[in-house]
Amino acid sequence: MIENIYYMVFAVLPTVQNQEFDNIESAMVSCWIKSTDAQSSYITASFFIEKSDWEIVENTQKPIVVNEENFIDKEIGLKNFYIAQKEKMSFLYLAVSKDGKTEKKVNLKSSYKLNMSNFLQKLNDISEEGRCLHYQADNRCNEIINAHSIQHKGVLSNIANEKNEIYALSKNTGDFKKNDGNIGFRRYPISKFSIFRGFCKNHDNDLFKPIDTSYFKYTDEQQIFLYAYRSLSKELFDKENALNMYINILEDVKENIGLSKNISSHIRGTENSLHSLNVHKKIYDHVLENETYNDMRYVSFNSMDESIMAFSNILYPDFDFMGNLIQNLSNTNIENTFDLITFCSAPTKNGWSFIFSWHKSSDNSCLAFIQSLKEMMKKGYSLSDLLFKFVLLNSENFAFSPAWWKSLSADKQKEISQSVTNMMQPTLAIRQYYLYNGLENISNWNFDKINDNLTVLK
Ligand SMILES: [Zn+2]
Repeated sequence: MIENIYYMVFAVLPTVQNQEFDNIESAMVSCWIKSTDAQSSYITASFFIEKSDWEIVENTQKPIVVNEENFIDKEIGLKNFYIAQKEKMSFLYLAVSKDGKTEKKVNLKSSYKLNMSNFLQKLNDISEEGRCLHYQADNRCNEIINAHSIQHKGVLSNIANEKNEIYALSKNTGDFKKNDGNIGFRRYPISKFSIFRGFCKNHDNDLFKPIDTSYFKYTDEQQIFLYAYRSLSKELFDKENALNMYINILEDVKENIGLSKNISSHIRGTENSLHSLNVHKKIYDHVLENETYNDMRYVSFNSMDESIMAFSNILYPDFDFMGNLIQNLSNTNIENTFDLITFCSAPTKNGWSFIFSWHKSSDNSCLAFIQSLKEMMKKGYSLSDLLFKFVLLNSENFAFSPAWWKSLSADKQKEISQSVTNMMQPTLAIRQYYLYNGLENISNWNFDKINDNLTVLK
């Protein structure tokens, strides 16, 4: 995705928290924002303006793409353009003083400094405490363990190096700076990767035995269900914890208009997503209790190659592989339940499988989603490229084989880091990413056999 510099202007008023509230009547703020699209640049600009204790009155200049030539005689403009190229954004405030006579440039700091490390610590504490998500959980679930959302044995150990390490997204903020503002990859021991404290020891052992002690057998619906159940449980656990953290943050930032608006919208989004997750969890619990595993649909792509990547996650599919909207996630009616698909890698006797699966109650979106994948294959698109893009752009819960990662050229490593970074930007408007060029000829996955239980598709 190409990034441009977007330029826009807002008319703003200082809020009571603003340091210059007593001196300044109003201000105009010019913004230079590096972004892939106008809407994202607008969201980024307005967030940072409001965070710095200004209230937006009007967007007097809508976002437009600018380049150096636009500022050729304007030294200050050009300077800000260069800053945005380097630091992703630049703001210039021109303020009118209360006496109306003087105009001055102001450079303000936000009244509030978010102590992110406190909140991350809090999130960590909530996650550490753990709880058992089994449908029969009760007071006997006293030994919460570090469950793996991706199997330790089999999936992860298959791709690990001799020291039992894999490459995963770096959580180290220093790497972010080292990597030109892109998210980097780092080696982690598999024992530290992808764990969540969402089951007690007994339930975890009992429940996941059929997938933890046996290879995936292409068409085994109980195994397919269990992989899906584990992905769903992990997401539910994480979302509940995130909601808890945002509620804590909101209490702390309520004085600051920009931040409290931003955090409130995170809370609304998380609540929406959690509502759907809870509905699906009940449906899945019902399948588990009644062993109605054939209510699950699946498509498995089976490879005889060694696996180079491990992953597991869930998704509310919004766009299909051809870029068509299949369900509108901006429908914020809390009664609305989004269709949910799960995906993961699984070890087989002779290689590995890529599994998509969902409960029949999500047929509406998921069938359209899989149908579009078939259409793209018919059109000659590479299945390997499509699936690889899909995982990278829809999940943070994945790991690479160290040998494979090191075998990639620096350019390809950079392409991967950049794509993942772009997708993680919450303000990004473009979501029709499967058509986007890039990440091609990297995975080179060969699939020998495709299995499914979809009688409805041709
Ligand atoms: Zn339990």
